[in-house]
Amino acid sequence: VKALGLLCTFIPRFWRGKCFSSGKEPAENSSVTPMLRHLKYKIKSTGPITVAEYMREVLTNPAKGYYVHRDMLGEKGDFITSPEISQIFGELLGIWFISEWMATGKSSTFQLVELGPGRGTLTGDILRVFSQLGSVLKNSDISVHLVEVSQKLSEIQAATLTEEKVPLERNAGSPVYMKGISKSGIPISWYRNLQDVPKGHSFYLAHEFFDVLPVHKFQKTPQGWREVLVDIDPQVSDKLRFVLAPCATPAEAFIQSDETRDHVEVCPDAGVIIQELSQRIAQAGGAALIADYGHDGTKTDTFRGFCGHKLHDVLLAPGTADLTADVDFSYLRRMAQGKVASLGPVTQQMFLKNMGIDVRLKVLLDNSDEPSTRQQLVQGYDMLMNSKKMGERFNFFALVPHQRLPNGSHQMNACKSKPPPAPVAGFHELAWR
Ligand code: SAH
Repeated sequence: VKALGLLCTFIPRFWRGKCFSSGKEPAENSSVTPMLRHLKYKIKSTGPITVAEYMREVLTNPAKGYYVHRDMLGEKGDFITSPEISQIFGELLGIWFISEWMATGKSSTFQLVELGPGRGTLTGDILRVFSQLGSVLKNSDISVHLVEVSQKLSEIQAATLTEEKVPLERNAGSPVYMKGISKSGIPISWYRNLQDVPKGHSFYLAHEFFDVLPVHKFQKTPQGWREVLVDIDPQVSDKLRFVLAPCATPAEAFIQSDETRDHVEVCPDAGVIIQELSQRIAQAGGAALIADYGHDGTKTDTFRGFCGHKLHDVLLAPGTADLTADVDFSYLRRMAQGKVASLGPVTQQMFLKNMGIDVRLKVLLDNSDEPSTRQQLVQGYDMLMNSKKMGERFNFFALVPHQRLPNGSHQMNACKSKPPPAPVAGFHELAWR
C-alpha cells in the first residue's frame, strides 16, 4: 500500500487509469448509501454476490446506479478522460474513421456508433471533422448511434450534440429511446443496447467503455479456482467484505485451461459485445476502434474505485464512486473468434503519434495568438502523450474485416494487379504520400 501511495504522488491526480486500488485506502465516506442498503437486502436474501453482480448493481442499477443519474466526468467530477482534455484527441479519431471508410470502399451509408459516450464530447469533435471534410463525405448518408444506459448522461450528450431548435423525440419504452438532429443536420439516435443499433456498414467506437463492464474475479487455491464474492462483514453490519466461494462457480468456465496467473479477472459482457461487433463487421463491413487502459492478459488484481479523482475503496459507500477494471485485450482478441482481424493493443502515445498529433498541434498553435489557449493545447498534448501520464497506460485496439489487411483472405485470391490495401492508420508509422 505504501509503494502504491508513493507511486500516486508521482502521477497527476486526473484520470482513471492511474494505479490499482488495494481496497484498503482509509475510509473517506462511510455513510450508509441507498445502494449499500439495497445490496445488504440482496445478500441477506440470496447470499454473497459475485464481483460482476456487485459492479453491475453499483454502476448501472436503473434506480440507484452510479452512472444513471449523475455527471461524474470532468475536474469537478470523479475522473477526466482524453476527449475532455484535448479537442485534438477526437479530431484524430475522426480522421481515423474517415480513413477506414475510404479504405473500405467509401460505402454510401456511414453509421458512427459510440458505446458509452460520456458527455458526447468525443462524438462532437468527430462530427466537427466530418463537417470540415464535408467534400470527402458529401455523397454518404451519415448517421450517429449512441449506446448509453445513463439517463443523465444521455441528456448531456443531447445538449452537446443536437440542434436545440429541433425538439428531441423521446420514447422511454422503445429500444431507440431518444432521437435528435446534430448541429450539422445528422440524425442521432440513443439506445441502451448495441443489439438494437441497426446493422449495416458501421464504424464503432468505445473509449473508456470496456473498463466499466462487470468482471468476475477468481483466486487460485489448493482446491482449484475459487470465485471472489462480496458479503456483509459479520463484525460490522454496515460494511461489505470480500470472501472466497466455498466451491467452484459457473463463471470459472471463462478461465483458460493453461492460465498461469494465480488471480484473474474475466469480463463476459466484454466478450458478448466483441462477438456482436465482430459478427457485424464481418457481415456488413466497417471497423471498431477501442481505447482503454488495460493489459494483454498479464495483470491480476486491477479492480478499483475512483471518487473525486482519488482512489476509493471499492466496497465503501457503493454508488458514490466509479468502479473499473483494466481491459484484458488478449481476451477481446480471443472473443473476436477469428471472424475479423484485430490490431493492437498499441499505446496511446504511439497511436496518436502515428495519426499525426504533432502536426495537428503545430497547426493549432500556429493559428492561435491567445497565450491561455496555447498553454491549454500544450498541456493537453503532454497529458495525452507523456509516458508517465496517459501515453503508455492507455491502449488502442481495432477490429477490421480480414480483407482490410494485406494478408487477408480476400487479398490472397485477389487479382495480382490490385495494389495491397493501405495500412490501417494509427497502428503503423505515419507515411506521408
Ligand atoms: N467515453 C466517454 C465516457 C466514459 S465513462 C469518455 O471517454 O469521456 C463510461 C460511459 O459508459 C458512460 O457514458 C456510462 O454511462 C456508459 N456506460 C456504462 N455502462 C454501460 C453499459 N452497460 N451500457 C452502455 N453504456 C454504459
